[in-house]
Amino acid sequence: MNSDKAFEQACGVMPGGVNSPVRAYMAVGGVPRFMAQGRGSVVTDVDGVEYIDYVGSWGPLILGHAYPDIVNAIEKAARLGTTFGAPTEAETRLAALIVDRIPSVGLVRLVSSGTEAVMSAIRLARAFTGRSIIIKCAGCYHGHSDGMLVDAGSGALTLGTPSSPGVTDGAAGETIVLPYNDIAAMRGAFESHRDAIAAVVIEPVAGNMGCVPPGDGYLLDLAEACSKHGSLLILDEVMTGFRVSPGGAQERYGVSGDLTRLGKIVGGGMPLAAYGGRREIMEMVAPSGPVYQAGTLSGNPLATAAGIATLEALSDATIYDKLESASVKLEEGLIREATDSGVSVTINRIASMLTVFFTTGPVTDLASAQSTDRARFGRFFHAMLDRGVYLPPSPFECWFVSAAHSADDIERTILAAGESFRAIG
Ligand SMILES: *Cc1c(COP(=O)(O)O)cnc(C)c1O
Repeated sequence: MNSDKAFEQACGVMPGGVNSPVRAYMAVGGVPRFMAQGRGSVVTDVDGVEYIDYVGSWGPLILGHAYPDIVNAIEKAARLGTTFGAPTEAETRLAALIVDRIPSVGLVRLVSSGTEAVMSAIRLARAFTGRSIIIKCAGCYHGHSDGMLVDAGSGALTLGTPSSPGVTDGAAGETIVLPYNDIAAMRGAFESHRDAIAAVVIEPVAGNMGCVPPGDGYLLDLAEACSKHGSLLILDEVMTGFRVSPGGAQERYGVSGDLTRLGKIVGGGMPLAAYGGRREIMEMVAPSGPVYQAGTLSGNPLATAAGIATLEALSDATIYDKLESASVKLEEGLIREATDSGVSVTINRIASMLTVFFTTGPVTDLASAQSTDRARFGRFFHAMLDRGVYLPPSPFECWFVSAAHSADDIERTILAAGESFRAIG
């Protein structure tokens, strides 16, 4: 197979043969498929095999692959020059679209990756509050900056320990890691670290331990606890922004972040992310304020063109209705097939984010997510791949439905899932 050869060559020149670890199939075994092209809901690998794609580049492709308006916008921008390192009007247009959709965002700064948005927002939160400790939840991913690669310390409420070599105890020791959906743990941390907590950083719908929705009232309680203790609430909407509703999780759950991070969809498949929030906080960012943050390619013309085209397409609200009904159909079909096959699954779904956990109980945090049967998922993943369905190669990821998935795609996926459930027993 061409993918085997491509992987072997890649391994000779890149660590693990990939540029981002989860692409390497470590969680499911086997050789990653190398992709040659994507159109709509379908990707084609270098062997010419087609798959219905639920990875969607891990979130950005809510309109599907090679969406014509986005491709045209990128082509047009490229002909006018790929980068200037000087301001362009397109940056203002994209920023205005963001500010318009997310009311808690008064000012926004464009950057190039979600990781960059996260680390910049954390620096800003520390500068604004004059405090150092950040709280995050176990199982939430906020990019790979040092202070976010942290595991819970020995016992809740203690400071964290590095989860990767190369992260210093110092960087990890300024992060507290608590269970998701546990407001009591959060309140406990605020009590035991009074006046030291700069911000709580959270995925308002967790998507990086698989899809784990916030419990009833959790986000509002969290916002209240933050404001009571003078800490900022940083909503990491890199995955949920423009996906779980036109205004992201904030609109869906009626909560406001002091700061918000965006990525993935906002760049329309190009490397672009953003952080923004309350005006008086964002005014501290250089050059209007003292908090330094910069980027040679920030607000890149090709990326802003793709972002604008995406957000403009998403202003047609019927897209969200279509996404919802396709996702409901998929969820219902998967439940039906699993039940008929005698396979126990828990399916979590919010809007067009969905995860099938091979477990029996509810999945509400990292501990319950980890009860999923990983070996079983690995077999299911390969059974689906053999049947032309491309799922994220990890049991702890979301499947993304896009506006390009047709009723026929969903039907074929459900059929493949039924066969795959029976094949893995
Ligand atoms: C993907 C993701 C990030 C990191 O974004 P990159 O562009 O990969 O750096 C951060 N936070 C969340 C919630 C994400 O899903």
